[in-house]
This record gives sequence, structure tokens and C-alpha cells, in this order.
Amino acid sequence: MKEHDLLKSTHRKLTVLCAGITTLILIVMSLSYLYVSEKSLRDNQFLFFKNSMNTFISNLSQQPVITHEWLITAEKNGNFLIKIKDNGEDFLFNNRTSDKSKEELFEYAVSCFENQFAISTLELHGTVNHTEFSFTYDGFPYYASIGAIYKENGALEITLVSPATALEKQIFRQRLIFLGINLAASFLLAVFSYYFTGKLLKPIAQSREDQIHFTAAASHELRTPLAVILSCASACKKANTEEKNGFLNTIQSEGMRMSHLIDDMLLLSKTDNHTFCIDKTECDPDTILLNSFEAFETLAKEKGITLNVNLPEEPAKSCYWDHERIQQVLSILIQNALSYTPCNGHVSLLMKIQNDHIFYFVSDNGIGIPDEEKNHIFKRFYRVDHSRNEKEHFGLGLNIASEIVNAHNGYIHVFDTPGGGSTFTVKLPSK
Ligand code: ADP
Repeated sequence: MKEHDLLKSTHRKLTVLCAGITTLILIVMSLSYLYVSEKSLRDNQFLFFKNSMNTFISNLSQQPVITHEWLITAEKNGNFLIKIKDNGEDFLFNNRTSDKSKEELFEYAVSCFENQFAISTLELHGTVNHTEFSFTYDGFPYYASIGAIYKENGALEITLVSPATALEKQIFRQRLIFLGINLAASFLLAVFSYYFTGKLLKPIAQSREDQIHFTAAASHELRTPLAVILSCASACKKANTEEKNGFLNTIQSEGMRMSHLIDDMLLLSKTDNHTFCIDKTECDPDTILLNSFEAFETLAKEKGITLNVNLPEEPAKSCYWDHERIQQVLSILIQNALSYTPCNGHVSLLMKIQNDHIFYFVSDNGIGIPDEEKNHIFKRFYRVDHSRNEKEHFGLGLNIASEIVNAHNGYIHVFDTPGGGSTFTVKLPSK
């Protein structure tokens, strides 16, 4: 699978995993909440029915005469159906309608009562007694109360049925609301997971891209000297002694160029896998700058560039650095300054001491660096203008310099020299 596809499929899998787990948690929490809430709704409703029955049956027991009107009003107000038997005989009230299904509902309620409690209505003890329970008839939920009132002249058997559909509707509505919330939340979680995992994978994708770019750029840089070496080697076979020497010199210089490039790449690969070590020892910061100045004095003269150095009046205290690496940083900056400054230009080296830090400035009045390029020049193989490169410039110098400075807990920065050109600043802690 290609790298790009692999990252895409990992992104997809992570999104599914992340969204799946969070949605699962959400569903479990919602179901638990629904269970608790529905149970308490049902319990409350049943309790309410029980209390209504208490009131109703106690009112009924206190009625000297039970009239149809009283029972009809009670039915209406309580939203239930009543069936009463007096000493085993149906009340006339029961026959006010010839609704068969109602009759069957009452019979079913009584059979449920007998099945659930294994007693019949008249076996209920006490002068006023009743029992409430719930049942389902024809797919609809009901509450029922079966009771008995004992008087001197006999017993009243009461069967009372109340539909519980309003509560079930409320529960169904609540479930629908939760389903809607869960669907919306799952969608939002999926979008968030996609965005979040994408953010997490971004550095990996970036690092892969950098690596691919690095390999491509390195191969490109190595191919040029190698092509020159190969063509010189084949030309050597037919050349006379004088020409041979010329070809051998070219092969040697291109070989050296490749060797420098490979050294640079090895250093950078060490910084990448954190095996780049700096060997810190006590060193003298002004000696390092003077050495760098002396190393480039001749080259500057050859190029017709004035190179000068300014040190602070009072000598700096010894610093704890890898002096060879710091020297390498200054060499990179001075070499660049000399490369990108035309003949008759000026390059100046300056050192300043501020608190516990040493500042090195390498200024030139050369071609300068456009503002939009300043952030890019520290990247690997980056060159502002590919067309004006000299052979020894691979676009790795500033990246190496910044890695070395970072390893010393310092920073490297570039700004425009007033009047034109560039000034590189290196800030290093003296300890
Ligand atoms: P190179 O080896 O190509 O100089 P560097 O990493 O040292 O690579 O520099 C990256 C790019 O930054 C250079 O190609 C050049 O375009 C620009 N640059 C660096 N130093 C200077 C400078 N003193 N003046 C102008 N441009 C510079």
C-alpha cells in the first residue's frame, strides 16, 4: 500500500475507533439513564394509581348509597373503568353498556389477579381491602385494582381498570428524544474524531513528507557530482596524460564535494534520531570568532570583500560549548555571507556579551533575503534562488547551523542589515 493511502486508511480506522468508542460510551450512558428514568416514572405512576385507589375505595366504603352518577363521575375523574358486584351479583351500573370488550378486559384483569396472587377477590381480608397490579391486555398496558368492602349486609367486590397508555406515550417520546440526541451526538463525535485524529496524524504525515523530500533532494544533489565523476572516468580512458590530470582533478574535487554532502547528511540524520552528541568543554568565545575570521580572511580578499571583526572591550568569560561545532556554525554563516555578497561588499563579525549570553552577529551588505523566504531558509535543501547557486551550496548549511545551536539551547535568527544585506544572529548561553 502506498504511504499516502496507508495514512488515509489509518486516519479512517482511527476515526472509526475513536467515534465508535465514544458513541458506545454515550449509548451505554443514555440506556442507563433511560432505564433509571423509565423505572422511576413507572414506579411513580403506579404509586399515584395506588393512592387514587386508596381514596376511591375508602370514599366508596363511606357511601351510604352508591349511585350511578357518583360512579360515572368517579370513572371520569379518575380515568378508569369500574365494575362492582354486590354479594356476587352484578351492579346495574355494570350493564349500562353492552360493551363486550370491556367485559373481557375486566375478566382478564381478574384472572391476572388470581394468577399473580393465587387468591380470589373475596379472600382479601379486612373490612376494606384492595390490591393493585399492572398487566398488558391486547398489547396495551393497564393498571388494575381488585378490592372488597365488607359490610353488615354482605360484600362488595370491586374491579377497577385504568389504561396506562399516557405514561407509555411519554416514555416513547422520551426514547425518541434520546435517539435523536444520540444520533446528532454520534455525528458530531464522528466529525470531531475525524478532525482530531487528522490533527494527531499531521506531524507523522509532515515527517514522512519531509523524509521523502529529503531523500529526493539528497539523491538529486548526489547525482550531479556522480555524473561528472562517471563522465570524467570514461573520458579518461581516451585522454592523453595532460587531459587525464585535468579529469583526475575534477574527479577528486567532485569526490570531495560528495564527501562533504554525505558528512552533512550523516550529521542531520544523527540529529533526527537523537544520536547527535555535542562534546562540551570549556572554551573561549572570542577565540572561536577570531579563528573563524582568520580562516576566511584570505577567501574574502580573493573575492574583493572587506571582512572585519569586532570583539567586546572586556574579554568574555570561558563558555561551556562544543567549540568545534560552534566554529562550524560561524563558518557556515561567514561562508554564506561571502557567497551572497558581491565584490567590494562588506562582511562584519561582531560579538556581544549580555547577562549570561553570548551573541554573535554575521552581517553582510549583499543581496539580502526577502521577508517571505526568511522562515524557509533554515529548512533542508532549501535555497532562495536555485539558479544562482555555487557548486558547494546544497541548502543544508543553515539547517545544520540551527541544529547545532539548538543542541546548545541557543537560537539563530536572521534580519535585514540596515541599508541592505542580511545579518544572522546566534544567541548562546555561556554555561
Ligand atoms: P546553501 O548551502 O545553499 O547556502 P544554506 O542552508 O546555508 O544553504 O542557506 C539557504 C539559503 O539561504 C541559501 O541558498 C541562500 O539562498 C540563503 N542565504 C543564506 N545566507 C544568506 C546570506 N548571507 N545572504 C543572502 N542569502 C542567504
